[in-house]
Amino acid sequence: MSDILVDSLYVVAALLFVLSLKFMAEVRTSRMGNFCGVGGMVIAIGATLLAYQSRSVDLLVGAVVIGAIVGSPIGLKVAMTAVPQRTAMSHAFGSLAVALVGAAEYYIDTPGIDPATLSVLCGEMVLGFLTFTGSCMAFAKLQGIISGRPILYRGRMFVSLGTLGVAVASAVYLVANPTQSLALLVLAGAALLFGFLLVIAIGGADMPTVIAILNSFAGISAAALGFVLDNRLLIVAGSLDGSSGLILGIIMSRAMNRSFTNILFGGVGAAAPAQSGGTAARVAQTYTPDDVVVVLRDARTVIIAPGYGMAVAQAQHVVKELSDALQARGIDVKFAIHPVAGRMPGHMNVLLAEAQVPYEQLWEMDKVNPLFPETDVAIVVGANDVTNPAARTKPDSPLYGMPILNVDKARTVVFIKRSMGPGFSGVDNDLFYLPNTMMVLGDAKKVLTDLLAALRNLRD
Ligand code: NAP
Repeated sequence: MSDILVDSLYVVAALLFVLSLKFMAEVRTSRMGNFCGVGGMVIAIGATLLAYQSRSVDLLVGAVVIGAIVGSPIGLKVAMTAVPQRTAMSHAFGSLAVALVGAAEYYIDTPGIDPATLSVLCGEMVLGFLTFTGSCMAFAKLQGIISGRPILYRGRMFVSLGTLGVAVASAVYLVANPTQSLALLVLAGAALLFGFLLVIAIGGADMPTVIAILNSFAGISAAALGFVLDNRLLIVAGSLDGSSGLILGIIMSRAMNRSFTNILFGGVGAAAPAQSGGTAARVAQTYTPDDVVVVLRDARTVIIAPGYGMAVAQAQHVVKELSDALQARGIDVKFAIHPVAGRMPGHMNVLLAEAQVPYEQLWEMDKVNPLFPETDVAIVVGANDVTNPAARTKPDSPLYGMPILNVDKARTVVFIKRSMGPGFSGVDNDLFYLPNTMMVLGDAKKVLTDLLAALRNLRD
């Protein structure tokens, strides 16, 4: 009876996990996705407590209580902009748990452990341990505890891949000689070191993609552990985690026109900013918020293109106020959302949702791009790379081939940022120097507040 109940609860939890991913795919249903995920996890934990009630239930309940006490404030207090590093810490703990349970299984089942089971255990321990240190380093970079710059040195590929080679060789040795537990320690040490070496060589801005890839590793190792423990829910949850992390990583790298190899081994972010050339002689035209209001006064259509700078300035609320004020004047206002604007997937959607911008006003890149030629004013708020026309026009540019928001096709482009400096890619933006571009230099929140005040003072 108890087995049937546990299995049934596992099926419900698995369904809720699938629904959670489905609902999370759209901003409109993402809250429901969150509830389904939480519900699925509560049922999964309850069913597991039921399944192992004959064992040390006090320890299990103690672990759940401690987890809830530590996890709840983290979930409630972490700022929206710190979600990538919070996610990195979740992966770190999840993967460490998986690796340690794998090690415990090895010690419990040895010497009677069969080679197939031990091979799976070794694979999941390598993935689990490297994900732990990799995620800790990703957290440290995103939190600013260590520099976000990639640490590069001569022969780094040799050292990194050599370390991974030692982990794999120890695994092979252990499978051939299961009682040689020293090999397990070497495996664990080498995998931990590899995760560290892999991530310190990657720039801080690539961390969200790295986290998606590490997420995938953690999921695969959990699924592998599910096979060893004969726990079907762990197999399902791990597979969902592994595949969704991988798909997210692929989507993010495609949207940046980068390959996994380039992200993991390219060391992007180490070099001094690469300029696209010939910029010294060029002069951009700078304007004030009062100048911009003159253009907005006669506009009928406006598209706002937000980017990383909006997140830094926390300007989403004033952006919403500006949008409302423009709409009150009968102007059609849309928001153009680039898939990798900001520093994490859905970054702009999250910020604009927080500021209560209606979903109908958010337009994805493919849908909004055809509208720019008929748009009176495109207002770029702290975005840079995702608007850089070099991605379309300069085959030698690191951005070449990346799909961008075609803001340059609008009649007037208002560019709000603090300086003429480049964005994440380090590539200068030709858009600053085009005759239809109005550069308004300053912190996005301050500039937009001034712009809003000037707009409200406007007499028709
Ligand atoms: P971006 O190219 O990094 O440009 C952001 C701009 O914001 C900067 O040029 C900066 O210029 C400006 N800025 C910073 N603080 C500001 C403030 N307080 N007020 C006004 N402006 C401010 O950002 P993006 O256009 O959003 O493009 C995202 C980049 O990140 C892409 O290259 C993408 O490939 C990469 N990336 C994204 C993800 C993701 O998942 N979204 C993941 C990894 C990498 P100033 O310093 O002059 O102000």
